[in-house]
Amino acid sequence: MGRLIDLGSDTATLPSRDMIAFMTACPLGDDQKGEDPTVNRLQEEVSALLGTEAALYLPSATMANEIAVKLHTRPGDQVILDAESHLVISEGGGPAFLSGVMLHGLAGTRGIFTAAQVAQAIQQDDPHCPRSSLVSVEQTTNRGGGAIWPQETLRAVVAAAHGRGLSAHLDGSRLMNAAVASGHAAAEHVQGFDSVTLCLSKGLGCPVGALLAGSRSVIREARRLKHVFGGAMRQAGIIAGAGLFALKHNVDRLAEDHANARSLATLLSRIPGIGIDPAEVETNIVFFDVGAAGLSGPEMVAALRDKGVRVGARPHETKVRAVTHLDVTREDILRAAACVAEVVEAARPRLPTVS
Ligand SMILES: *Cc1c(COP(=O)(O)O)cnc(C)c1O
Repeated sequence: MGRLIDLGSDTATLPSRDMIAFMTACPLGDDQKGEDPTVNRLQEEVSALLGTEAALYLPSATMANEIAVKLHTRPGDQVILDAESHLVISEGGGPAFLSGVMLHGLAGTRGIFTAAQVAQAIQQDDPHCPRSSLVSVEQTTNRGGGAIWPQETLRAVVAAAHGRGLSAHLDGSRLMNAAVASGHAAAEHVQGFDSVTLCLSKGLGCPVGALLAGSRSVIREARRLKHVFGGAMRQAGIIAGAGLFALKHNVDRLAEDHANARSLATLLSRIPGIGIDPAEVETNIVFFDVGAAGLSGPEMVAALRDKGVRVGARPHETKVRAVTHLDVTREDILRAAACVAEVVEAARPRLPTVS
């Protein structure tokens, strides 16, 4: 067995030699005083990229999201978002723990909901009801399989929020995947949102880091919360340099990850017993169903792991997730698909026989 083919997540990337060399050459200063030139440059580049007034470098996209929730809400408020969004299922209960808010999960389609769903979920202004204060959108959707929100749906949801006095947050952890795949610039996706999270440690290939972007006043308040949450760092340019490198070298190439994901989906669709619609694969996330092959998700995960391929599945589900990224090659995709076929073939005797 060769090296592990890690399709578990696009967080699996290791910093390249060139990225590390660039990082070690970056000028440094005390970022808590706003004096780290590399952090400052990254913040400027990201706000220029997103068309916002300002941006703030943070240790993680989770912290960016949690700061956004904190700054747009008061305890007891209601946040409207997709029921399967990262804020709901993958941030350790942070919105309740840190901000004391209630999450109202909408049943979106592949993580995408409508302005009408938002309008229906907004509580009336009545002391009996929680105050609806924030709508949060994920671009691309994670549990939704890397789906891209159409521009008009983004606009309509923002308008529905603002029209009723709510703020709008974009969890654009994979925003650059959406930009590259859709052909709409990142700034277009972000238009109208009061805050935006951009993750550097997913497809962009950095070992660490994220940014929160928004207006000067939003980012000024976010800087205070960064300190409160313990995320204010000192000579952070040593890691922020990775972000500068990634913005220059790792954005356009996301198209390769998307092509690899589509190839994987097409190859998997040819395996009897594997459920997948390759047309649904828009970016770098591939969900496939193994139920018809007589397997559970975790069984497929374990069997593939034995063959040197890592994918992910939740307990009690037959859905399996594979994510492409810059450390996954074309050959890896062919090998991974072949391994899935082998696992399905080996499971065949377990299928009920037709008499
Ligand atoms: C990974 C992810 C995050 C959190 O990113 P970290 O930098 O690992 O904290 C937030 N939102 C979405 C949609 C993600 O996929």
